[in-house]
Amino acid sequence: MAGPAYPLTLDLTGRRVVVVGGGPIAARRARGLVDAGADVEVIAPFVCEDVHDLVESHEIRWHEREFVVGDLVLPEPAWLVHTATGDRDVDTQVSREAEAARVWCVRADDAGASSAWTPAVARGAAGSASEGLTVAVTAGGDPRRATAVRDAVLAALDSGTLPVRRVRRNTATPVGPGAGTADGAGPASTGRVALVGGGPGAEDLITVRGRALLAAADVVVTDRLGPRGLLSTLAPDVEVVDVGKTPGNHPVTQQRINELLVHHALLGKRVVRLKGGDPFVLGRGGEEALHCLEHDIPVEVVPGVTSAVSVPAAAGIPVTHRGITASFVVASAHDGADQVLRAAADAASDATLVLLMGVTRLGETARALVDAGRRPDTPVALIERGWTPEQRTTVTTLEGAAADAERAGVRAPAVVVVGDVVSVRHRLGDLAGE
Ligand code: SAH
Repeated sequence: MAGPAYPLTLDLTGRRVVVVGGGPIAARRARGLVDAGADVEVIAPFVCEDVHDLVESHEIRWHEREFVVGDLVLPEPAWLVHTATGDRDVDTQVSREAEAARVWCVRADDAGASSAWTPAVARGAAGSASEGLTVAVTAGGDPRRATAVRDAVLAALDSGTLPVRRVRRNTATPVGPGAGTADGAGPASTGRVALVGGGPGAEDLITVRGRALLAAADVVVTDRLGPRGLLSTLAPDVEVVDVGKTPGNHPVTQQRINELLVHHALLGKRVVRLKGGDPFVLGRGGEEALHCLEHDIPVEVVPGVTSAVSVPAAAGIPVTHRGITASFVVASAHDGADQVLRAAADAASDATLVLLMGVTRLGETARALVDAGRRPDTPVALIERGWTPEQRTTVTTLEGAAADAERAGVRAPAVVVVGDVVSVRHRLGDLAGE
């Protein structure tokens, strides 16, 4: 072949295609051609079971004999022929006949002697990020490489590593999930909501599933926390709604967030609610899921790496450690010491306390824990902006926490760890990696 090959896709619906040969390769080819709607004739003295099944189910016709001159033009010319007889002479005869009759010929035995080739093909599954895509790869006569590349491309699309999302055309009119078609299958345009845990902030600490849903989203409702860097990978037409809250400043109420999710889903959009950490750990994800269900919006949750465990880890603090403690408690310190005290009272006396939203009322919380019987010299770590380049850890004690935090200028977001596990940090140091 002198020039580069010319890729093309064919509409084979109802068109005569001849497959010469009856073995497993011919069976695979025949199957693919049937799936493409071709009118398939197999010519072979014997056929394998898979071909036989296609004959039995009347999906193909079988001429139980050797290939003979004229098969490609009678009773009418074929549009395409595949030859996979396993016999080089027969394949050569078929390809010669094809050439003379101007019928494209794919030879299984010798790509170099073919006038046409089938690429390695895969189609995106319904509901996946690659839905609606056909990936077809040729690799200059190296079918294994073509298959590997095909699979890699599809995997990258589905994982969201290649964020090339499908733009849907039917998102303009509001449709309720009840507005289904007569057969009850529901309109293709009903939207859905995914509550995706984005992890503590690093772009690669989101789950594969969460990343894929993000890549397929039409609308992303995002927070101040979580992997915000991923937002820049979204296509320009993806609507990003930032409902980020800063402490003491709540620009968007939870009620409004709930309404936003439902609103966009009713417009037929795929909505991703991207949240920091895990959606169901002090993240109000449960309320968002309930609100969606109350409005008949399909909703799913994708767990995330919670900051409660991962941020201490980044600072070299395991929340449990053999010989120190076998349990930990996560509590919100947002509403002050009472909540923390209740959590601590129910826990083992040596349990690690992990406090989220604990910076603003740190002094009050620490005092209350000492008053409730925790040692004043219990080690405390304040880990700010975990898993970001600005991660910083301040180690102190319950009695020194308020003053040390003020001196260091500790700011939210930070995870507060109270317990002897903090001392492990002296041996491990920061562990967040690059
Ligand atoms: N659902 C989240 C928690 C939301 S509450 C999760 O599972 O992680 C918000 C609090 O999480 C912050 O006030 C802070 O205490 C903590 N937090 C979240 N991400 C953090 C980060 N990268 N570094 C430090 N603290 C973080």
